[in-house]
Amino acid sequence: MTELNICHLYPDVLNLYGDRGNVLTLKKRLEWRGIGCAVTELPIGERAPLGKFDLFFIGGGQDFEQGLLLEDLRSGKGADISAAVNDGAPFLCVCGGYQLMGRYYETHTGEKLPFLGALDLYTVGGEERLIGNFAFETEFGPVVGFENHSGRTYLGEGVQPLGRVIRGYGNNGSDGTEGARYLNVFCTYSHGPVLPKNPALADGILAAALERKYGRAELVPLSDMSEREAHDSVLKALTGE
Ligand code: GLN
Repeated sequence: MTELNICHLYPDVLNLYGDRGNVLTLKKRLEWRGIGCAVTELPIGERAPLGKFDLFFIGGGQDFEQGLLLEDLRSGKGADISAAVNDGAPFLCVCGGYQLMGRYYETHTGEKLPFLGALDLYTVGGEERLIGNFAFETEFGPVVGFENHSGRTYLGEGVQPLGRVIRGYGNNGSDGTEGARYLNVFCTYSHGPVLPKNPALADGILAAALERKYGRAELVPLSDMSEREAHDSVLKALTGE
């Protein structure tokens, strides 16, 4: 039976604005197509051989929660996560989870949190938070969501943005980029959660996982009426189109 094993990393501390809904969306979209899905939660203090998972999710969290993770990352889990990235495992990382994949986060109070460095990017906190509904253009069409972050993220060479900002701030409010793409890693500042109202992005991530595991991805189209209605109404409110 076709099946994906999803690993939800740090559900105990990284779960803002219903980010967990992304895991439910991935699971449902597989089930609606008769594809199996098992979800394993890996909180602080728990390790597992990450090679058995086909897809990883990390949600958002505030500076304080991110600080709580540092010791756990140093215990070896950080190296495991970096190895999975380099092995081509698909990841969806949101906001605080996105920042975690980078080299470091310097908070607006001047504290420097050393992060994974799995992706060549870094984040610097600003006084003013970047908040609001936003939209950005991607290879999956326009993606809509909600952002709320102090961190400004800057991408290094070899890391592509997930998209270009249409309305809102994105990575840093200045260079027009939003999120990051590296190997099979998808990062975004979009909460909401992002996947329920952006089904094309959800299927893009599922396709990456299925292709890696089975060499092909057969995702029969779903009707997605409510999903598209939600997506289009946010986009219209933002752009007037
Ligand atoms: N702590 C980070 C920041 O404020 C991430 C916040 C979040 O995940 N929403 O930049």
